[in-house]
Formats: sequence, C-alpha cells, structure tokens
Amino acid sequence: MDSLLLPVVDEDGAPFWEYAARSELRVQACASPDCGRLRFPPRPCCPHCRSFESEWRAMSGRGRIWSYVVPHPPLLPAYAAQAPYNAVVVELTDAPHIRLVGNVVSGPDAPLNSVDPARLRIGAPVKAVFAPVSPELTMVRWQLER
Ligand SMILES: [Zn+2]
Repeated sequence: MDSLLLPVVDEDGAPFWEYAARSELRVQACASPDCGRLRFPPRPCCPHCRSFESEWRAMSGRGRIWSYVVPHPPLLPAYAAQAPYNAVVVELTDAPHIRLVGNVVSGPDAPLNSVDPARLRIGAPVKAVFAPVSPELTMVRWQLER
C-alpha cells in the first residue's frame, strides 16, 4: 500500500520526535547562559555563539500560518489520493523566527485533506496537535484556532 513519506529521524533531531510522542512541542535552545537562543532545525552547534551545549525548551504549541500551498496532482500516489490538501509553514508564537512545515488538519487523527483549503489564510492562528503515524513516530500537525 502506498503511504505518506515520513521524516528521517537523525541524532540531532531525535529529541524533537521523542517530545512529540509525549504531545509536547519543544525547540532546541542554546544552553550557554550568555546566549540561550532558540534554533531550528536542530543541530549540534549554536549558530550565534558556537556553543555545543543545548537544551529542549517547551513551546506553547501556538502559532500562525506564515505561508501555505495547496498541492494538486501529479503527486506521489499516497498524496494524490488526498489532494487537494494543504502544506503550511507555521511561525511559532513563542519564537516568530522559527517556522515549522506541516499540515493543517481538523484533528490529530484526521487526514491531510480534512480541512477545506479555502479556510486557510496567511496569519490565521493555529495550535499544534500530535498525530501518531507509526509506533515510532508522532507527527506535529496544526489545527485552526477558529
Ligand atoms: Zn548560543
């Protein structure tokens, strides 16, 4: 059966997925007391101060749609079956310089095409929902706040 592509979990990003499996949205932060800046995607070294110390800081899970597209076929078969759906870039309320790519859905277990693309607007408030897609992986998706 055709299935959606899943992220490849690497060593730097593994904590992001472990927190997501616990329904927590966390972002990597520099743990140097003089810096402390958030960064995404996860990486070993702080791009601001070059510290290798890091921690994972809890986010509120709130954000706004910064941009979006509505893919139409031709697409990979599993995606064509759900088109038209949406792919969004969400700017985090707690860290507006951090943007995550995902999908707006009507609920954690809902399919990618569960929200009419006509409802999406740049700037619309969204909140993170956590969708287990396999025993090992929980996706962070987004739900419209209203
Ligand atoms: Zn730093």
